[in-house]
This record gives sequence, structure tokens and C-alpha cells, in this order.
Amino acid sequence: MEQIRVWKEIDIKEIDGHLLICDDLSAHCGACRKMPIPLEASRCPECGTEFNYITTRENHTTPTGQRILSKMLQSGNKSIIEYSDYKHASDKKKAQNLFK
Ligand SMILES: [Zn+2]
Repeated sequence: MEQIRVWKEIDIKEIDGHLLICDDLSAHCGACRKMPIPLEASRCPECGTEFNYITTRENHTTPTGQRILSKMLQSGNKSIIEYSDYKHASDKKKAQNLFK
């Protein structure tokens, strides 16, 4: 199977607090930072956050990034998002809030 990125309009609030963040060795809860969390987990054992989204800070073009991506693809019913997209949207929102 091929790996294709899908673009979608999404409210950043939907992702915040429902994100599992993976690195090469483990994964942590985006809400409370608890780690390690198995990639298959549907909820955080610490704070109960439901994981609907999964991402990594590693670039998918590196061997490490490819390895993490393969693991994320096996992680069940979560949408895989591109970390830089999330970071960009999240920073933009923070900047907007500063000027309110
Ligand atoms: Zn948590």
C-alpha cells in the first residue's frame, strides 16, 4: 500500500487534547505529557484523554521518521496528522489570542 497525505479543514480545538505524540522509542499524551503510552492505546491511562489523532515531530523522510510512520499506521483508529501543520495552526491561534 502507498502512503498518501490527506488534507482536511479542521478546528485545532478538535486536535488539542486528543493527540498522542510519538518518537522513536515511545509516545506521550499531548494533554498531560504522561509517557510511555502504547501506540494502540485509545485513552491516556493518566488523564483519560481520548486519542483521536497521532503525530510525530520526526520528519517522515528520515529512516527514523519512516519507522515511526509505519508504527503509527498500525495504531488503530487514529488520524495521523503532520506535526508541522499542527504546530503552524497552533502558533497562529496563540498569536491571534495575544492581540485580543
Ligand atoms: Zn494524559
